Amino acid sequence: MSDSTETGDRKKASGGKTLSLKRTVETGQVRQSFSRGRTKSVVVEKKRKRTIKAGEEGAPAAEEAAPKKAPAPEQPAAKAAPKPAAKPAPKKPEPKADRGGMVLRTLTDDEMQARAQALEEAKIREVEERQVAEIEAKRRAEDDERYRLEREEAARREAEEAERRAVEEEAKSKAEEEAKRRAAEKEKAERAKAPKVADADDAPAAKAHPRKREETPEAAKPAPARKGEPRRREGKLTITRALTDDEGGRQRSLAAMRRRMERDKKRARGGSQEPRQKVAREVVIPEAITVQELGNRMAERAVDIIKLLMKQGVMVKINDVLDPDTAQLVAEEMGHTVKRVSEADVEEGLTTEDDAEELKQPRAPVVTVMGHVDHGKTSLLDALRKTDVASGEAGGITQHIGAYQVTMPAGDKITFLDTPGHAAFTAMRARGAKATDLVVLVVAADDGVMPQTIEAIHHSKAAEVPMIVAINKMDKPEADPTRVKNELLQHDVILEDFGGDIMGIEVSAKAGQGLEKLEEAILLQAEILELKANPEREAEGVVIEAKLDKGRGPVATALVQRGTLRVGDILVAGAEWGRVRALLNDRGQNTAEAGPSVPVEVLGLNGTPEAGDVFVVVENESRAREVTEYRQRMQRNARTGGAARTSLDQMLSQLKEGERHEVPVVIKGDVQGSVEAIVQALDKMGTDEVKARVLHAGVGGITESDVTLAQASGAPIIGFNVRANVQARDAARQAGIEIRYYSVIYDLVDDVKAAMAGMLSPELRETFIGNAEILEVFNISKVGKVAGCRVTEGAVRRGAKVRLIRDDVVIHEGTLSTLKRFKDEVKEVHGGQECGMAFENYQDMRAGDVIECFEVEEIARTLD
Ligand code: GDP
Ligand code: MG
Repeated sequence: MSDSTETGDRKKASGGKTLSLKRTVETGQVRQSFSRGRTKSVVVEKKRKRTIKAGEEGAPAAEEAAPKKAPAPEQPAAKAAPKPAAKPAPKKPEPKADRGGMVLRTLTDDEMQARAQALEEAKIREVEERQVAEIEAKRRAEDDERYRLEREEAARREAEEAERRAVEEEAKSKAEEEAKRRAAEKEKAERAKAPKVADADDAPAAKAHPRKREETPEAAKPAPARKGEPRRREGKLTITRALTDDEGGRQRSLAAMRRRMERDKKRARGGSQEPRQKVAREVVIPEAITVQELGNRMAERAVDIIKLLMKQGVMVKINDVLDPDTAQLVAEEMGHTVKRVSEADVEEGLTTEDDAEELKQPRAPVVTVMGHVDHGKTSLLDALRKTDVASGEAGGITQHIGAYQVTMPAGDKITFLDTPGHAAFTAMRARGAKATDLVVLVVAADDGVMPQTIEAIHHSKAAEVPMIVAINKMDKPEADPTRVKNELLQHDVILEDFGGDIMGIEVSAKAGQGLEKLEEAILLQAEILELKANPEREAEGVVIEAKLDKGRGPVATALVQRGTLRVGDILVAGAEWGRVRALLNDRGQNTAEAGPSVPVEVLGLNGTPEAGDVFVVVENESRAREVTEYRQRMQRNARTGGAARTSLDQMLSQLKEGERHEVPVVIKGDVQGSVEAIVQALDKMGTDEVKARVLHAGVGGITESDVTLAQASGAPIIGFNVRANVQARDAARQAGIEIRYYSVIYDLVDDVKAAMAGMLSPELRETFIGNAEILEVFNISKVGKVAGCRVTEGAVRRGAKVRLIRDDVVIHEGTLSTLKRFKDEVKEVHGGQECGMAFENYQDMRAGDVIECFEVEEIARTLD
């Protein structure tokens, strides 16, 4: 670089001189004859200038130099040639010009020295290069092997290499410097000489020289200056090498690239763990694990897992969830051992085994009151509450809590649960809690057995809970207990009077009659059940209800079933947890603890659990978090990927495979006759091995209560000419309960038969298109009745079949005679829009009815 500035300076200087001198020289006419017989005056100048430079054997030097170091001498020629000012090409004139020859010779002689030196250097360099090339070749071979052998090794050697390179570089740069220095010296010498000889006519010298000089040092310099570059190129491009070593060369560059990438990555990772040893780990694999988490557990990079799976043709992202089989495959592929665990293991040890008998103490029975609406459940509960002897002391039981405990005069206690309905009762059971020890079925003596009475019977039977019948409203003159008992008989509820084992107590909530007898009956039944629990342990129980209180936050009414719940305990209730901040008893008073069968309000939970959720006290917060996180995840999964858990197909195929011997079903029909026919048909199909167990068969639309009952027993629901109401449909969807609708008993029987025989899987015979609600019915002369409707779901289509549904029961099935939107007859009306509809040959539509639109699919049945 110093050279370039030097030459630059000189250029400037000589430029000035050249201008003035040119003219003077022009006058001095020197003729130069060329080999081809041309003569030129200007040319001579050039020679003169060379003369100044004074050396000898300029030509031979150039010639000698040419073959040896081709680029050096050729370059000047090439450069000189195109420039008109430099017309006298150095080589051409040399041989002929005597005078100039001398001059030239002296000049070239000097130059020669420089070149010779440069050549020498070049030779040295060549040797050096060869050595380096050899070293490199060796290294290359080593590299390849190393790479093959061990990646980590490569990393270590990388460091060595770098060191070695650094040393080489140092050596190189030293050589370079040396060369430069020498070149500089030479130039200095040249410069010193030049003015001496060509002082007088230095103009031409200056003119031609700069270029010369430029080149001379370059000739010596370029090699060291670009040392690294050309050497490497040489190493790659030599023909022999290209032939023999081609692959090696390419591999080497690839390997180098890999190494570099590796190094970069390592650096990015913070190369501390560079010589990382592969550690085989025991990897715990749960039911679902993300790629990231699997990577963490194996101490491998997620990218490697993704790569591995990609090789298998599985494309995953870092946050994708792997199934345990895939995860195991990956882990084993990467050299780890696998321990498969079920995520549910989190729950392990949460509820402990039953306590030892000797630790148990008698506990109060927990009673649920059920029965048809208006038969007096609430009144009876109120009346029973008033019998509480403890109420006198502390203001009495308040009704703010859905459960309370009554103390008998003799000191015995009974806990009553005030569940809002049968569905709630079964919902608890569906969540795995057996909250109730026995059921009190309230039947009004003046009304007898009613649909919800039957429902209550089925719910308690399904729960396998003993029942006591309270025949209420005995104060009424029209009360007829015998009729009630007879009706109950029809539903397999055989009272003691009829030789059965179910106690029937005649009571009057209003008159307070028979209450003590009822309580006695309850205590008697409880005695038979031998209800006991260990109070000296962490509390476990069930959430009866929970709500979000504006002031107090989540509030749960909890029934302790064993152990004792205390303020400060860490509680897990369903998918929620919290530290018990306060406990309130059924009188609304703060209490420090609650033992078995005692209902309390719990404050301090982080969220509201659901009625029926089991609660347990755990040892610490992290455990609580672990469990609730798992449960919340499960809930989410159930909500998102809710495959039908209890479909008829599934049920029947389980039957077929001998996994089940009983098929529980819930049947709802439009009329008693059809329900009975279905039950009988299913009964007849039963064999010794398998039979249908009708959990509940009733008349009317499918309700939430039916769904919870079905859910608790894992049963599908069959709707015969009835439909599920919105709540029931939602509940069924959430619980994964299948609801099947039929309008022909044979279809139903066919389906069940076919499924049982495994001959064909039952197929849907009809496709639901949409629902429309009748807003108003118009009587139009000549046309008849037209229903003004709004499409609430899907769409309605002309030509499709329709059903008229009133209170979830199908009351008519047929086709539409007209479908109008405003005044126009249309083919289809979509959800949210209003339309006018009329049935063919049917007039009895009412506001509030629902028109269901469906299409019948034609399915080729192979069943005879
Ligand atoms: P629930 O719907 O089952 O809770 O019934 P309620 O307790 O709300 O009672 C319904 C109606 O029956 C109310 O008007 C009560 O006053 C009345 N009732 C309840 N028990 C008796 C009773 O023993 N005798 C008479 N005469 N009426 C009763
Ligand atoms: Mg009530």
